Amino acid sequence: MSIDTKHIQTQFPILGEKVNNHTIVYLDNAATTQKPNIVLDAEINYYRTINSNVHRGIHTLSQLATMEMEESRKVVQSFINAKKDYEIIFTKGTTEGINLVASGLERLLKAGDEIIISQLEHHSNIVPWQLLANRKDLILKIIPVDEHGDLILEDYKNLLTEKTKLVAVNHVSNALGVVNPIESIIQLAHQAGAYVLIDGAQSIPHLKVDVQELDADFYVFSAHKMYGPTGVGILYGKEHLLEVMDPYQGGGEMIKEVTFEKTTFAELPFKFEAGTPNIAGNIVLRKSIEFIQSLGLKNIQHHEDELLKYATQKLEEIENLTIYSKNAKQRAGLISFNLDIANTNSSDVGFILDKHGIAVRTGHHCAQPIMKRFEIPGTIRASFAVYNTLEDIDLLVNGIQEAKKMLL
Ligand code: PMP
Repeated sequence: MSIDTKHIQTQFPILGEKVNNHTIVYLDNAATTQKPNIVLDAEINYYRTINSNVHRGIHTLSQLATMEMEESRKVVQSFINAKKDYEIIFTKGTTEGINLVASGLERLLKAGDEIIISQLEHHSNIVPWQLLANRKDLILKIIPVDEHGDLILEDYKNLLTEKTKLVAVNHVSNALGVVNPIESIIQLAHQAGAYVLIDGAQSIPHLKVDVQELDADFYVFSAHKMYGPTGVGILYGKEHLLEVMDPYQGGGEMIKEVTFEKTTFAELPFKFEAGTPNIAGNIVLRKSIEFIQSLGLKNIQHHEDELLKYATQKLEEIENLTIYSKNAKQRAGLISFNLDIANTNSSDVGFILDKHGIAVRTGHHCAQPIMKRFEIPGTIRASFAVYNTLEDIDLLVNGIQEAKKMLL
């Protein structure tokens, strides 16, 4: 099946909106995707028909809301092929998922233990580990990248020791779009006796993910980057690890029994879901998965690869323009580049594009270490979703040409 972008676009009301008198060309999908009607309608429908609190009510609405939310957990389970539905923890996003794991493992780590991350990480997969390392006297090691933005696997192998307890890397880089060889990373980590957390924020809308096949110990992502609502995320964790981890936050819903002397915790997944969750969001996430499945991830990936290929080819034709990671082994979903014009930066270009109704992201993309690696303050990033077209890329290229004229 090929992707019918015209039909898909009709399902996204915001894409008909005007920005600065131009119909919006939305190429900031790595930051957050737009939402289709099926998601928007489900959100309002929830509040209109079954709004109530989950897991504690005897009344019908509460039971309905609980049922819907637990059904959504099962849909996520099947989407990433987790073994058990209670290995799916609702969070508020990728960032919270990573912090939850960092906090949950704290008691199990001791001074001198090592954690490996990469030079390609988003700050949310750096800072939680730094904070943990500072609290527990751990050693943080960094996998370097080569000139294409590919992780240097030989160096990674040398970083692994018997003290390595966790490796945390992203599946797809939000700054460069590089797809990391997580199969090998996971395999090598396991051989060394370490667990692996995969930050799937940028892979989940683009690539098929099977956590059992990957043998990932933790896999985290955000709903809002996959056509779903903000304030919702998923932490997948293997049962035996979630069992031994400490709860992240204390409160209602996550306990079995509370006395002033002692609290015992609820079973998985509730041990990690303190307080009233984002009920509407958790329920609606299911609709964004249904949207993706109705098109098929393979078809989506094929369409986005075509966009990436076309964008690379068109941007290459522009003089004084550098594309980063053009020759990386595999890329997905986005292209990162700069105009090589003295005394201009990426946001000057982003500002001009916005005047043409074109939304891109500029700057360091919350990934300052990889910017430093390439000795640049930031890039212009065009990131794709299933509703983008070749015409969007033509408009981007025209906009860049305009920007060039104005800035030269
Ligand atoms: N990791 C990566 C690779 C990301 O792209 C992002 C979002 N830009 C995050 C983590 C953080 O996601 P969130 O803000 O939804 O928690």
